Formats: sequence, C-alpha cells, structure tokens
Amino acid sequence: MRIALLGPPGSGKGTQAQRICEAFGLVHLASGDILRAVKASGSPLGQKLREFIDNGLLVPDDFMVELMRQNILGLSRGFVLDGFPRTLPQARALSRMLFENDRPLMLVLNFVVDPEALARRFAGRRVCPVCQAVYHVDSQPPRVAGICDKEGAKLIIRDDDRPEVVQKRIVTFQQTMAPIVAYYTQLGNFKTIDASATIDDVTKIVLDKIRRHFE
Ligand SMILES: [Zn+2]
Repeated sequence: MRIALLGPPGSGKGTQAQRICEAFGLVHLASGDILRAVKASGSPLGQKLREFIDNGLLVPDDFMVELMRQNILGLSRGFVLDGFPRTLPQARALSRMLFENDRPLMLVLNFVVDPEALARRFAGRRVCPVCQAVYHVDSQPPRVAGICDKEGAKLIIRDDDRPEVVQKRIVTFQQTMAPIVAYYTQLGNFKTIDASATIDDVTKIVLDKIRRHFE
C-alpha cells in the first residue's frame, strides 16, 4: 500500500497516519520528521538544507522530492506520506518520481475539518511560557486550572491558537491545497475523510475506507 494523507494542521492526520501504519504494517513518512532528521545529519542534503534555512529561503520543491525519493527507494514495505506534497509542483514531481520508480500512489486521503470546529479544538490549548509544556482544557488539563504542573507558571494562550487566527490559517491552507485536491481528484484513487469526529471514530472510518479500497 502506498498512501498519501492531505489535511490541515490540527486535523489529526499525524495520529491517523501512525494508526494506519500500525494496522497495515506500513512506514510513516512525515515530512517534518524527515526534514528534522536530515538537518541533524551531516549528509550533503543536510548541509544543503541548512543553507536554505540559514539564508531564510523556502525549501525548493526539487529538494523535497529528492528527499522523499531517498526515503522511499530503500523501503521494502509500503508507506504513508504525511505532510507532503504541499504544492502542486511538488504533487506533480512526486507522481513522476514514483511512476519512474514503479511505485505510484495507490490512494490519497484528504482530511477535511470544518474551520469552526478546528478553531474550537485549538481554542482549548494552553501553553506554559516558562517550560513550553502544552495543555488542553478538555483533553489534557493541568492539575490546577491555568497553572503549569512543572514550575507553577501561569499558562497562556498562544496568538496562533486564537480562534480568528486559526480560522484564517485554515482558510489559507484550504486555498493552497485546492489545486492539489483538484489534481488528485482528476487522477482518481482520491477519497475525502470527514475528520470532524473524535480521533477514534475517524480511525474507524479511515481503516474501513482503506480496507475497502484495497479489497
Ligand atoms: Zn511550565
């Protein structure tokens, strides 16, 4: 199985990717983790990546595709792409690269969450300004409301988590993803997942869709 997941930050895509990998014995290829790992390595690609970052440049599409190629070619199992592609040129270059290596994507799952629901999810986040610990008023509350468990600092709401900022971020994300969604819709093997439900319910839906797709 070769699967790619699309979806905004906060859609639970990373957690679902891990669960899909556990259920079907696949390798989780999260672009963020891969970038961190290659940056920390002394490899030529790692040095190049540091140059981009040090010079405040965006990581070029070609570079990202090459990075994914190196991570995919050594695999003897299937994989789940998480956080990649992020642009239409990346999606096209990825298709070409996978096709040339006889490993085309077999399924693309698009995680869709209502922007208002997503904003509510973020609105419960509280961060410790001292130790950077992250809490959530519903799912991961501190022992004393509003106070960090570790050193007792007063918790704050990050500007990025304010509902109006989150909603704007989601709308921007959906706009940048629209051409990618259109591209994969046209290619086929594309399914939309309503990721507004609880994590466990979404997992059930996702695993079921994958099983039926590969039957
Ligand atoms: Zn703290």
